[in-house]
Amino acid sequence: MTEDRADADVLRERLLAWFDVHQREMPWRSDPQPWNVWVSEIMLQQTRVESVIGYYHRFLARFPTPADLAAAPPDEVMQHWAGLGYYARARNLQKGAQQVVERHNGVVPDDPEAFLALAGVGRYTCGAVQSIAFGRRLPVLDGNVIRVLSRLDLVESDPREKATNERLWARAAALADGERPGDLNQSLMELGALVCTPRSPQCTDCPVTPLCTAHQADGDPSRLPIKAKKKPRPRYTYQAALCRDEEGRIWLGRRPNKGLLGGLWSLPMVKGSKPTALSKLTLEANHQADPLATIEHGFTHQVWTVALYTCSGRPSGDGAETWRAFEEAALPNIALAGPTLKALRAGGVALPHRRGAGRRSKQ
Ligand code: SF4
Repeated sequence: MTEDRADADVLRERLLAWFDVHQREMPWRSDPQPWNVWVSEIMLQQTRVESVIGYYHRFLARFPTPADLAAAPPDEVMQHWAGLGYYARARNLQKGAQQVVERHNGVVPDDPEAFLALAGVGRYTCGAVQSIAFGRRLPVLDGNVIRVLSRLDLVESDPREKATNERLWARAAALADGERPGDLNQSLMELGALVCTPRSPQCTDCPVTPLCTAHQADGDPSRLPIKAKKKPRPRYTYQAALCRDEEGRIWLGRRPNKGLLGGLWSLPMVKGSKPTALSKLTLEANHQADPLATIEHGFTHQVWTVALYTCSGRPSGDGAETWRAFEEAALPNIALAGPTLKALRAGGVALPHRRGAGRRSKQ
């Protein structure tokens, strides 16, 4: 037995013993059906567990099988996702469910290659679902696992670099290559969430302290993983219109499915520094006055400043796939783009706050 192998065996044993005692109860853990696990893994990407649980129950109550999701109207799927953010996940999940119906008679494939070929399924999701639901010896690597492994092995380079990332995948794969791979993967994620946290790792409560190089080496594991400085995100200015029809309903446009904020409902909005830019959508802004509100919205890769003006007219033009006027009371039930939600709220339209808000979003 090589030293690495022995090391992996001891680590696995300690992690599993800890997980058996300390894991949190989660609905997808008590019933790890492949479809349930798949839905939970997609929802959990970029989103906290507490925010996901309610959505998970409502989503599975309405779409209990891939076939139910495959056949649902896309608008209804978006309604069940509204507030979770990252809406491309919902669109891809529905597409993946349709592929499961077409290619696998509606049964989630117990086959990593076939599963990886589905829409929205990447290396992480494939490893998570195939290991948890089917006991396949495949690894996962998310933010929590990266942190734990970077500290265990004292990885002194940025995990976003290709070579470092591959090194971490290889380490995760060696650990998953044993008994109970699904639990082992979850134990790493759970350890990262509960004990080996970003700023204050609880090394005295950790089951792998004697094997942790960062802990042994310098006593300050919180400096890992290394993060190279990011470039500042580019900033763009938009002009948005709050315009109502003769019955007081608010005009919104649905953005094209492809691209940023795809498929979501948005206020009429044009890139530009002056409200006169709204004339591109045949709208006239009341630009003698100050904007009704100005908001900032951060995406992962850019920041928007949006100035909201009251406008007259009816929007038209290619700023949206379709334009429609909505009663204010209907707005909480439709999938609104993040900047629109913020601008409406800042402009005095009463809208409930989203669960799980506060994350930097892609939407
Ligand atoms: Fe993280 Fe500390 Fe455990 Fe190492 S010993 S894995 S740094 S909590």
